[in-house]
Amino acid sequence: MKKVLFVASECTPFFKSGGLADVIGSLPQYLNDTDDCEVRVILPLYSKLKSEYRALLTEVMIFETEVGWRKQYTGIYEIIYEGVHYYFVDNEQYFKRDNLYGYEDDGERFVYFSNAVIEFIYRGDFKPDVLHGHDWQAGAAVAIAKIKQPVPGIRTIFTIHNILYQGWMEHAAFGDLFNLDISHFSGFEWGGMLNLMKAGIFHADKITTVSPTYAEEIKTAHYGEGLEPMLNMRSWDLLGIINGLDVDDYNSMKDSNLDVPFKTSIIKKRQNKKRLQREFGLPVKEVPMYSIITRMVEQKGLHLITHILEEFIQQDVQIVILGNGLYEFESFFNYLAEKYPDKVYAYIGFSEGLSRRVYAASDFFIMPSLFEPCGLSQLIALQYKAIPIVRETGGLKDTVMPFNVYTGTGTGLTFANYNAHELLDRLNYSLTIYHDAELYKRMFTNITKVNHSWSQSAHQYLDIY
Ligand code: ADP
Repeated sequence: MKKVLFVASECTPFFKSGGLADVIGSLPQYLNDTDDCEVRVILPLYSKLKSEYRALLTEVMIFETEVGWRKQYTGIYEIIYEGVHYYFVDNEQYFKRDNLYGYEDDGERFVYFSNAVIEFIYRGDFKPDVLHGHDWQAGAAVAIAKIKQPVPGIRTIFTIHNILYQGWMEHAAFGDLFNLDISHFSGFEWGGMLNLMKAGIFHADKITTVSPTYAEEIKTAHYGEGLEPMLNMRSWDLLGIINGLDVDDYNSMKDSNLDVPFKTSIIKKRQNKKRLQREFGLPVKEVPMYSIITRMVEQKGLHLITHILEEFIQQDVQIVILGNGLYEFESFFNYLAEKYPDKVYAYIGFSEGLSRRVYAASDFFIMPSLFEPCGLSQLIALQYKAIPIVRETGGLKDTVMPFNVYTGTGTGLTFANYNAHELLDRLNYSLTIYHDAELYKRMFTNITKVNHSWSQSAHQYLDIY
């Protein structure tokens, strides 16, 4: 049985900023259930850890981690949750902050984290055969494991969840933060800076990303965010594995956030819409409801939405928005909600429970991403029977099949080009579908048959291990 250590920066149910947390919180359980490997997970101990979980922490060990010429306190704590061992790296200087990321010293924080992970492997009883790092925050751990071999013969896998965020630092940080010979500098350097994503890609034995289409896209200058030469160099070892969803958790029959659980009943789904209309103070009536649940960043195609949404909502529709991020987008949605209180509701913030109710209530889910490594939101939308309207990029292309009116196949509405009027065209077409009971039922039925659980893809990780 292979022993695998996931190194990651977020994980449900402990702390989450996006889809990475969903993956780290569900894939290990699924893999462990196969009996072919044992995955454990190591994470930073952020102050965001909810008190109910904090109460479960048990101390494993305390040691000092070398960060360049300094020695930093490190506490390792553990929670065994639903059968999986989660380790937490405690250092208040680095992780006692209001947010997970977004600090000037993010690079240093995660180099420290990586150094602590390697030290923990040296000292601990769990000796992984494979270190599996996720995104730039774990890039240094992958690199150091390869160079220092904390377990002789240890293999490394690096998974790219989003190549936009790379962990850039001044090159002087190499001497300041790493305890490595200068001969290793080139494995960390990119364009005159240190780049932790590059370090992961360069050193890993195998590289994966979260959909087959994104694996191809990031080898091009359009999507590679400058790292495409590295990915082409390593393309033989690069594989796209589509993310699965924790379908036990995202289950519209069992979700305690919903007032009316449902599975295949359109009538019950629409009762959820009525409840949400009441909750949000929107007119309670039978009208197509569209939702947007997202980090408000350019990646999510919000410029397309801001371009055409006001035109679209002149029709008899309701739009519900849940998200936060760039001021430009937050203020646009606030403006619409104020101007059209009978049609638009915007919740600027992050709320897991609310998001579930919005997925369940909405008839359509809008996600016209500029790029999308995999995307979990459209998978959750499918689970809660909200028809996704997406751009054909990355994982959106691999998971949402365009509806074909002649064959009656397909699970969503899609468009190819990053063009606001292509989105508007699909939105208008969605109204035709909604108002044609037969067409709508056809699509709804197609969606009820979709299976995006890990059973479709987790075995590909086992193959690599
Ligand atoms: P990304 O990881 O790029 O943000 P994904 O689609 O992979 O995008 O995952 C986003 C996850 O975060 C989904 O589970 C989605 O429901 C959730 N999410 C995004 N914004 C919010 C929000 N404001 N409140 C609650 N959940 C959110």
